[in-house]
Amino acid sequence: MLAITGIGTLVTNDASLERGKLGLVKDAALVVGDDNKIAWTGESINLPREFANNAIHVGGRAIIPGFVDSHTHLVFGGDRATEFEARMSGKTYTSGGIRTTMAATRASTNDVLVANARRLASEALHTGTTTLETKSGYGLSVLDETRSLQVATSITSETTFLGAHVVPPELTIDEYVNLVCGEMLTQCAPNAKWIDVFCDHGAFDVDHARAILSAGAHAGLGLRIHANQLQHGGGVQLGVEMGVASCDHCTHLSDADVSALADTKGKTVATLLPTAELCTRAKFPDARRLLDAGVTVALASDCNPGSSYTTSMPLAISLAVLNMNMTCDEALWSATAGGAAALRRTDIGALRVGAQADFALLNSPSHIHLAYRPGVKLVDAVIRQGKCVAGSLA
Ligand SMILES: [Zn+2]
Repeated sequence: MLAITGIGTLVTNDASLERGKLGLVKDAALVVGDDNKIAWTGESINLPREFANNAIHVGGRAIIPGFVDSHTHLVFGGDRATEFEARMSGKTYTSGGIRTTMAATRASTNDVLVANARRLASEALHTGTTTLETKSGYGLSVLDETRSLQVATSITSETTFLGAHVVPPELTIDEYVNLVCGEMLTQCAPNAKWIDVFCDHGAFDVDHARAILSAGAHAGLGLRIHANQLQHGGGVQLGVEMGVASCDHCTHLSDADVSALADTKGKTVATLLPTAELCTRAKFPDARRLLDAGVTVALASDCNPGSSYTTSMPLAISLAVLNMNMTCDEALWSATAGGAAALRRTDIGALRVGAQADFALLNSPSHIHLAYRPGVKLVDAVIRQGKCVAGSLA
């Protein structure tokens, strides 16, 4: 049992409280039961006496649900600092750089890949991320994709087979799509919960993406898609047609794309990855347009060595508010409950009674500071499944 009181602002994301979308409680308290789930939330003055006696007082600081980062690529070897430097000197980003990481990943042992993925997962945890999804996609051979997914399972249960990231240089696109839908899928599926495809210029077209997602669905995997990052195209519409959990990036959208997403009524989430735009000096997607149309929006880090080498969800929140016209409340919801929706999880992303006790203690009185103080370390402690796993509640 863990009881916390003196919470300046508690973000529950519990709409049933009728305190807005974030279910905000001021001067709050929270109790975690012995099952490591949320047992009680409410105003401090109403905290039952049996909990109040042992409660930790956090001095007016805010508590938010742990971030749910529904889109990362943490299984890879090497880095691409040289490419980044060249791009910052004027070279444009293309999907071809993925092959550089492919070579480094193939050359890395499993131990090296596990150590790198764990380092990044730990970095994410310390900035408040309590659940993350991660993908294969830098092996691009049966052997290397299979071991990439084995590595992914060492850091999360939300693992995604992204053999269809780009085509490796040794095969034609048709040969490679057959391999992804055949032997590679068979070998990777046991360690994957999801299948994803990079449907964009320089990667896979709509017909190939449809074949890959269909094969994945047939193998029992959930569906996700990288769509409309680099230019307009049919990726989002395909995602909606296939009933994917999330269309990720959504940087270049037509009105028809926006309506198609809205018509799913939240079944297909639009996951925006603003640090990818930041790190490639690209135009930010307009989150306001999606939100005003009624689309469910998630925010994620897209952490990868090429186009977004950051695990920071607070940075994604800052960018969403400062550059994408989201409100502070919307951005926090999208980084927590939105990420959970993108993973079709109802046990995380909110601090309602019965939910998994995953949350972060901030060193500020409210969640607004996450956007208001960009780049500043605001997370004092992280609790996952009821245990303090980073920092301290004291
Ligand atoms: Zn990605």
